[in-house]
Amino acid sequence: MTVTKEWTQNTTLTAKKYVQDVFETVQKRNPGENEFHQAVKEIFDSLVPVFAKYPKYMEHGILERIVEPERLITFRVPWVDDQGKVQVNRGFRVQYNSALGPYKGGLRFHPSVNASIIKFLGFEQIFKNSLTNQPIGGGKGGSDFDPKDKSDAEVMRFTQSFMTELARHIGPDTDVPAGDIGVGAREIGYMFGQYKRIQNAYHAGVLTGKGLHYGGSLTRTEATGYGTVYFVAEMLKDNGLSFKDRTVVVSGSGNVSIYAIEKATQLGAKVVACSDSNGYIYDKNGVNLATVKRLKEVERKRISEYVLEHPGAEYVEGCSGIWNIPCDIALPCATQNEIDEAAAATLIKNGVKAIGEGANMPSTLAAIDAFLKANVLFGPAKAANAGGVAVSALEMAQNSMRMPWTFEEVDDKLHTIMKNIYKNSVQAANEFGFEGNLVVGANIAGFLKVADAMIDQGIV
Ligand code: GLU
Repeated sequence: MTVTKEWTQNTTLTAKKYVQDVFETVQKRNPGENEFHQAVKEIFDSLVPVFAKYPKYMEHGILERIVEPERLITFRVPWVDDQGKVQVNRGFRVQYNSALGPYKGGLRFHPSVNASIIKFLGFEQIFKNSLTNQPIGGGKGGSDFDPKDKSDAEVMRFTQSFMTELARHIGPDTDVPAGDIGVGAREIGYMFGQYKRIQNAYHAGVLTGKGLHYGGSLTRTEATGYGTVYFVAEMLKDNGLSFKDRTVVVSGSGNVSIYAIEKATQLGAKVVACSDSNGYIYDKNGVNLATVKRLKEVERKRISEYVLEHPGAEYVEGCSGIWNIPCDIALPCATQNEIDEAAAATLIKNGVKAIGEGANMPSTLAAIDAFLKANVLFGPAKAANAGGVAVSALEMAQNSMRMPWTFEEVDDKLHTIMKNIYKNSVQAANEFGFEGNLVVGANIAGFLKVADAMIDQGIV
């Protein structure tokens, strides 16, 4: 076939129409699910050049199939609180795509959790997991349970009830959950205990993010934050820059933020702010990470308490103001849509050079557009925060071998994976004519592997 200009124009039009038609079906079929629509739109728009170049993906109906979860499970989670009152939460697991391996993705416990949130996260997870080059499909789950201000006993009763239903749907070769917002080592431990009790089998690889003494992997705790910084460091290096002596703002103060702060500081940056869901702290001398770790990881307290120990720092109620702090590098590591168009404009006005998304979908579509237009280096979540799930896959590998690796071994592998994700995203962007656009590059690189596997496996 001769590729003429006219042919290219026609296939681009056909590809655009195909993407638009499938997107409209998604909107109709999933009314009111705004976060899900947003995640789908971001990926779909990136894929137009792929369909224009390789119409076979349209012929195989890849988009129609990939956007529909293989399975979506919703269930009742009844439990009794410390006052003896019956509580009911809603549990979810979306088993989105198993073309590359068992469903893999975290569980989020947060009051905002609903089908839209779980589906946006699950859909993104397919492409993120593909980018890691590990044999893992995409899934996600969680509950609208709020672990904040709950006693240990309440958290245990809830997670045991949650796992009592979830257990029948998961397994080391079927679906392997892990943590996300509100689910850390404590929750994973309780869930692992309950799974083992129900199944009467020690399937170490059924959950990741486990404690080190029962099958967890070294570096898993640090992996998402470290991975984000490794990715951004690569992106900066490619543009003649580095973390050294740079001012960095990191939102959040959970597991992703804490280890992003740690690694950025190790690379010579000064991190001046972090936050929680109530507000943020600004410490112009550099955030004292030991204090943040103790407050958040050990004492489960609010970030506002930081200023009691560091009177030179200030605490501001409300989270969005954190983006008013001038910085060279911003690492949004808190939650979805925390950077909107106005926050992006402020960051750009203040001279930000690079963004690395440690959280899932922290920037709105308008914010992403603004960063790309202003030529700010932009590391999208799927690529930049893939280190967590990548090390989860390494945890599964160690569980299968019944052989743990050292911290250095896992950290080295993580570093290599993040460099490769960067390289592959750059290459895909270049190949399809979007030089420097890592949003498009990561989406395409992640998509191609899953799409080819789906074609090989037939219409399923
Ligand atoms: N929740 C994390 C993510 O968004 C990690 C998932 C996992 O380790 O399975 O990728």
